Amino acid sequence: MDNTSIHDLIIVGSGPSGYTAGIYAARASLKPLILAGEKAGGQLMLTTVIENWPGNEKGIDGPLLMDEMRKQAERFGATVEYRNVQRVDFSDPVIKKVFVKTKDGEVEYQAKSIILATGADSIMLGIPGEQRLIGRGVSTCAVCDAAFFKDKKTVVIGGGDSAMEDTLALTKFASSVTVIHRRDSFKASKIMQDRVLNNPKVKVMWNTIPQEVLGDPAVTSLKVSENGQEKMIETDGVFLAIGHRPTTEFLQNHVELDDHGYIVTRTSLTQKGIELAQAALNEGIIQFPTMTSVTGVFAAGDVVDVRYKQAITASAQGCQAAIDAERWLEQR
Ligand code: NDP
Repeated sequence: MDNTSIHDLIIVGSGPSGYTAGIYAARASLKPLILAGEKAGGQLMLTTVIENWPGNEKGIDGPLLMDEMRKQAERFGATVEYRNVQRVDFSDPVIKKVFVKTKDGEVEYQAKSIILATGADSIMLGIPGEQRLIGRGVSTCAVCDAAFFKDKKTVVIGGGDSAMEDTLALTKFASSVTVIHRRDSFKASKIMQDRVLNNPKVKVMWNTIPQEVLGDPAVTSLKVSENGQEKMIETDGVFLAIGHRPTTEFLQNHVELDDHGYIVTRTSLTQKGIELAQAALNEGIIQFPTMTSVTGVFAAGDVVDVRYKQAITASAQGCQAAIDAERWLEQR
């Protein structure tokens, strides 16, 4: 494809949100260009069976689902390029520019509208065994994987709201949930802490640092240091809930980000999001809810979503962003 032409829409990112935006925009004849990144497909490429994707009674493999979504977008006229966007320039009110790095330097792409769908990565501990056992007992999504741990022993690492939510999700299936936290108090909201601390299946280990995940081929134990003393905890699952890092470094100073680095849109339920929504309130409704602080630049999926981070919610937001972009382009 000639990258000097001005596209109607460029989608940056290729998880469920990027590809769903691609499907909708392509079916609206926008011929979107999807800059999918060198490692396309997002977080679902790291998962095995997804059991909560509606319409697949027996579950579907993450990589297969992403491949199907890509092909579906291409079938309707989307073009997918496996390139990483490293820089953007949204200073022109009409033409937005994104730049990808190539072996010969930098290539510029231009578009009238952009959807940012670059996702978020789970923060990892970086301890031995963690990477090797991902999908074999180590998980970053309790909502997705809790049901695989029926009557099993589990461990959750972290002390924020995600850790509390993951713990509560696991108590519905697992025989026990041990929360491992590096300090002597949680930072999670009081109500979530109370629910966790009052649940009879939950035990908390304070001042405890995970050191190594063990097991072959699947997790059998976690080595920790509790108050400086080495201990082995027998467990079938290690759930990491120490936060997420939205992929927005290349967007800093180009679109409004919140304090955690997530892109703010008119649907973000934060002070900044409410301010954007208020400014976009017209005749009783908020125009283009998925628009960011930059006119013509929309965002969808985990890169805006502090809370849900599910394939289905990311997909739905991709759909919303594509419809907003289409209507916004039409109005112009
Ligand atoms: P947070 O950053 O709030 O919490 C991360 C937790 O992990 C902290 O307890 C932190 O410890 C711990 N941690 C970080 N790094 C390490 C490490 N290397 N080793 C061990 N422990 C570590 O992330 P969350 O994902 O929990 O939440 C992010 C945001 O999303 C928050 O604003 C939260 O309120 C919100 N959220 C809201 C929900 C809801 O309303 N339903 C649900 C989930 C999240 P320490 O306490 O020592 O810093």
